[in-house]
Amino acid sequence: MGGISGVYLHNKEVFDTLIQSTFHLQHRGTESSAIDTSQSSNSKKIRPGEVKKVFSERDARDFRGNYGVGALSGGTAELMELSSSIGDFSLVYDGKLVNSKKLREEMKESGESFSTVFEAELLGRLISKGEDIIDGIRKMNEKVEGSYTLGILNDECLYVIRDPYGIMPLVVGEGEEGYAFGSESPALTELGFTDFRDVRPGEILKVSEDGVETCGEMDSNGVAHCAFEWMYTARPDSVIEGVESTEVRRRAGMYLARDDHIDIDKVGPVPQSGIGYALGYHQESALPYEDFFYLNRFSKRSYIPSDPEIREQIAKEKLSVIKSSTKGREIVICEDSIVRGNQLLRLRNTLKEKGEAKEVHARVGCPPLCSPCPYTQTTKKYSDLIYNQCDGDIGKVSEKLNLDSLKYNSVENLVEAINLPSEDLCMGCFTDDYPI
Ligand code: SF4
Repeated sequence: MGGISGVYLHNKEVFDTLIQSTFHLQHRGTESSAIDTSQSSNSKKIRPGEVKKVFSERDARDFRGNYGVGALSGGTAELMELSSSIGDFSLVYDGKLVNSKKLREEMKESGESFSTVFEAELLGRLISKGEDIIDGIRKMNEKVEGSYTLGILNDECLYVIRDPYGIMPLVVGEGEEGYAFGSESPALTELGFTDFRDVRPGEILKVSEDGVETCGEMDSNGVAHCAFEWMYTARPDSVIEGVESTEVRRRAGMYLARDDHIDIDKVGPVPQSGIGYALGYHQESALPYEDFFYLNRFSKRSYIPSDPEIREQIAKEKLSVIKSSTKGREIVICEDSIVRGNQLLRLRNTLKEKGEAKEVHARVGCPPLCSPCPYTQTTKKYSDLIYNQCDGDIGKVSEKLNLDSLKYNSVENLVEAINLPSEDLCMGCFTDDYPI
């Protein structure tokens, strides 16, 4: 998982605004950050760690200029600099190509060599084959399959591109100081670029002193926005395709309660991503809402690191039970999704053993995760998913997690909560049916 950002300012150094904008996407990846600017003299553009920790005020001297791009990742942030017949450019990328291995091998066979293993380099080399940047982007798009969001910086301007399926979110906007783009709307709105819109699937935008201009549209066989963005990945205040994540999560929580008939005392979230669902459940059921956990805000997001031991350690230190809320009570906890089930099992045990809860029921905002995502950087396999380990039997999942009961939202409820046509959504990880 990762994100990209870019800022173009009128007559002002971009460094501070670019760092700030990228920081508002930090939840999409904390392992590595990257930036480049129009007059950069620093060769260390990709650095391990969170953006504000690894790019300090001192770096402003080296990252000069009034426009720039940024990237973040749970692995290595993908920023690539290329020199080519269409000029020098830097490219930031987030996504995942399903045919990158094949393309790379074909290009190697025809004599090309690569200096990295990153897809950003592959995309950059494909773009370099064009007669100019726009032609190169079109040619690249004819070759690749998968999801991509791209920002390109050259000596004249920025370009912003979203794949023709529009799988990952990407927004562009303007404010008094200039223009910006980013994987999620808070990267813009928090900095005053409040007049924003989604980059259309397949749209190629040029961002320069003259404004934001559409300079190409690539054909699409249909759109497939990632449903999981609203349900988990995006910030609660992110607006994607005109729909705010919290709104979707709250509706999904209401639908969980609408279809539930259980006699319990109160409902609470697994923080943070379960909050919207628990609020919705509370509103629909009229059950008291209460916090059962203290969230240690100095812990990282446990989904992001690929190392299972680190993930486990972070998850362990992240949440502590608030015993006065749980002792002797029959409670429902709302969670966004269940991947392997380790975290939910640990929380259930904490609630029962340390919190002395009488009954623990879990309600899950997403439908069961049954397939890994081919369009984001993930280490998950079919066999990792608890739903598959239990042969798709929710009763067995509940038993494995020692829960008093377990319910998931249906795919129909998910679509209703997002409130977009189902044919415009990718729900592959819930349905095993992929758009590409
Ligand atoms: S497979 Fe799942 S996570 Fe991947 S793009 Fe589709 S909905 Fe999103």
